[in-house]
Amino acid sequence: MRSAIFAGSFDPFTMGHLDIVKRAAGLFETVHVGVLVNPEKHPLFTPEERRDMIAAAIRGAGIANVKVHVFGGLLVDFARTVRADVNIRGLRNGVDFDYEYSMEFYNKRLSPGLETVYLAADSTHIFLSSSAVRTLMAAKADITGLVPEQIYQLIAERVKSDEQ
Ligand code: ADP
Repeated sequence: MRSAIFAGSFDPFTMGHLDIVKRAAGLFETVHVGVLVNPEKHPLFTPEERRDMIAAAIRGAGIANVKVHVFGGLLVDFARTVRADVNIRGLRNGVDFDYEYSMEFYNKRLSPGLETVYLAADSTHIFLSSSAVRTLMAAKADITGLVPEQIYQLIAERVKSDEQ
């Protein structure tokens, strides 16, 4: 059976991301989640913090066949490193599709053997984005239910220690 990658900034990882990971884990032997190090972005959490938060959420959801990594550079190189030949992407709407389809064009040029598989977002997650969660967090608004329970706890601890 094939292995797949699912990559992103995941700043933070949301219930929408978790749903895609869960469903991909049911389809593939191993799913490698990749936390992208993007030097142009100034994330709330370091890549290693995000990796550990995601691993905690995945353990909490009882999913066994998922590994979480930090990677920099090109997605196709990450796929090669973990020996995956499928790239999973989540689609919330047509805007996601237009963006992801253009990325597929470049990924295919660089790595023709890497197949992209799109999973449509669950209808309860189509308005959920990491950027909306960051906006709510900055305003100290409630984000219960938007991120996995384990991540909610880690965020709450961070907010508390920042206040002290
Ligand atoms: P980036 O910040 O690198 O654009 P994200 O971490 O936001 O990436 O997303 C990574 C992947 O997860 C993308 O395929 C994106 O479409 C998908 N995704 C993001 N939010 C959701 C959601 N609520 N439901 C399903 N898929 C999602």
